[in-house]
Formats: sequence, structure tokens, C-alpha cells
Amino acid sequence: MTLGDAEEWAVAQGWPRFRGEQVWRWVHDKGARSFEEMSNLPREVRAELAERARIGSLTVAEVQTSRDGTRKLRLVTHDGQSIESVIIPGGDKTTQCISSQVGCAVDCQFCATAKLGLKRNLDAGEIVDQVYLARRLLAEVEPERRITNLVYMGMGEPLHNYENLIKSLRILTHDKGAKLGQRRVTVSTAGLVPKLEKLGLEDVRPNLAVSLNAPNDAIRDEIMPINRKWNIGKLLAALKAYPLEQRRRITFEYVLLAGVNDGLEHAAQLAKLLRGVRCKVNIIPWNPHPEAPYQRPSAEAIEAFQEECKRLGMPTYLRMPRGDDIDAACGQLANRSNGQAIVPLRVRKTPPIPAVE
Ligand code: SAH
Repeated sequence: MTLGDAEEWAVAQGWPRFRGEQVWRWVHDKGARSFEEMSNLPREVRAELAERARIGSLTVAEVQTSRDGTRKLRLVTHDGQSIESVIIPGGDKTTQCISSQVGCAVDCQFCATAKLGLKRNLDAGEIVDQVYLARRLLAEVEPERRITNLVYMGMGEPLHNYENLIKSLRILTHDKGAKLGQRRVTVSTAGLVPKLEKLGLEDVRPNLAVSLNAPNDAIRDEIMPINRKWNIGKLLAALKAYPLEQRRRITFEYVLLAGVNDGLEHAAQLAKLLRGVRCKVNIIPWNPHPEAPYQRPSAEAIEAFQEECKRLGMPTYLRMPRGDDIDAACGQLANRSNGQAIVPLRVRKTPPIPAVE
């Protein structure tokens, strides 16, 4: 429920409107998971709440910790579906990556989540609960750390689950609720053009990231079938019209696939495409998973591509894989686990994978 929903619900129960806000704040500001904890509510109200309502919807099934400190949470829904969320520490910043759907329908050829297909949308409660559970976990294991940034880059395509996405953004950024700054929240999309246009009109203003991944339609058609519906021309037209706040930029994600999109000519095509768009480019060297016929380019090829992008005037950043030893890096979320039941913080020992420098 949004704050407004909670207030209306309270009135419908025959309670004063402020009860709705009181309860809502307990859940979304203080992270309460039972009505019993709501100490400023009369005992009988708490009892009635317990009969009529339910808080939280996910349970932590497993936590894996990477050798780089990244933690992957496997969370189970009330109907037994698994989703994943990742906590990525970085200096005084900690970013949480959250899921918007169980599986995904978009079918990007290089992504492990795509192989699951779409099971269902997450509801807004299941989206926000990922944040509350991560906060709880951090409070236990690393109390000095706080989640400062949020990215909708986990399982699923957020714009395919539009209503719940917006509702979750309203709750998470509300100054009486979870209080995340709108500038610290990023929604990433494979490029659903009509929904992008709609998002531009909303009053919640997250940052926008777009998974471009290719410098021309021929390559994008092949690796992202969604391009056959909304091609690069349509996508860029929508982005150029997108009402971007001052001092903000669109982030383009570019998964680097050896021999597919990592040539210097591709960098040149990319620079030409993005001319005139206020943006930056995040290069993500492909993260391996068993189902895909791709390879990560060599460290030299990655560097050459990035240098060429920079030389052509694009602000370009290399996204180093985080948590790849526990399948927690970009594009690796597919509910793969080590099969252990609920054991927070178990470190899975794996042989080191050569990292990209
Ligand atoms: N569906 C949304 C949210 C997922 S974001 C979107 O497409 O933007 C996940 C990011 O990881 C995307 O930018 C995607 O292009 C990238 N990605 C997917 N599989 C990957 C892999 N195997 N290695 C590296 N990046 C990958």
C-alpha cells in the first residue's frame, strides 16, 4: 500500500485516518515485521490488525557472500517462487540491486535470467520488501553500513511491471517511508518505448538506465529480440524526448561480447548514435553463465574499446564484475544456489575466476 492506500484502508476499517499513517510508518520507515512491535498502537488495534492485514511477503532463504563482499539474497515469495537481490558494497556507498519480476520475458540472448522465462510480476510489496530485508541483514552483520543507492537491475524488466514499479518507487522514495533519495534510485530497462514515454510523465523521478548493448540494429536484433519491436531509432527518439532533470544523464549499459559488439568500429557507431544525448556509457564485460554461447573479451580488447569510446568523447565507465563467484553479477541471476538451506552469510568457496583489470 502507498501511504494514501493505507489511510483509506484505515478509514474503511472504521478507524481514524491517522491510524493508516501510523501503521504505514511502522512498516516502511521503521521496518516493523509484526503488529506486536507497534508500541504506540492500542493493544486491541494491534490484535485487529493481525487479523485483517499482513506485513511483508518475502522470506530469506539463503545468503551467499562473495569474496569481494557482495552479498546475494535468495528470497522466497508466499507462493514459493524464488527471486534474488544483491547488496554491493563500495567504499562509503552501498548499492542494492533489486528484482521486479520472477524471471523475465524479454529474452536477451546473453542473460541468464531470460532462460527462466517469465513466471510472474512481483507486487509492489514484494519489490519494497527486498530493501527492508536487506536493511535488516546489514543491521545484523555490518551495522555501520547503510544502503545508499538502489538499482532496478535484478531479475525482470521493470517497465513490464509498470504499475508495481511506480508504486514501489513512491513508497521507497517517500520522506515518511523508506526515504531513499530519488537521485539515488535507478530504473534500468531493455527499452520498452511506450512505457518509457509514460515514465517520463510521472511525478516520481528515478534515474534512467537503458540496456543498449549494440551499436546498430543488425546486432541488437540478434542479441535483444525486443529490438525487432522497438528498434534503436525509436528508442533514441523516445530518449531524446525524455524530460531529463538538469544535471542528470541517461546511463547506457553496453554488455561487451567478444567478437559480437566489441570492435573499434562498433565504438565509432555508438559514438555517432549517442551524439546529442546527455548520457554516459557503462561498459559491462559479459559475465559468464552456462547457457550462453558468448565469451568475455580479453582485458586488452575491453581496454581498447573503452579507450576508443573515450577518445570519441563519450563519458565511459567500466563496470567491474561484482560477486561473480556467487553468480551475483549482472546477468547471472537465475536462482542458482549452492543448495544449502537458510544459512545467512555462508561463504561459498570457489576457485578464483580471472578478473578483468
Ligand atoms: N531488464 C532490465 C533490468 C536488468 S538490468 C534491463 O534490461 O535493463 C541487467 C543488466 O545486465 C542489463 O544492462 C543487461 O544488459 C546486463 N546483462 C545481462 N546479462 C549479462 C551478462 N551475462 N553479463 C553482463 N551483463 C549482462
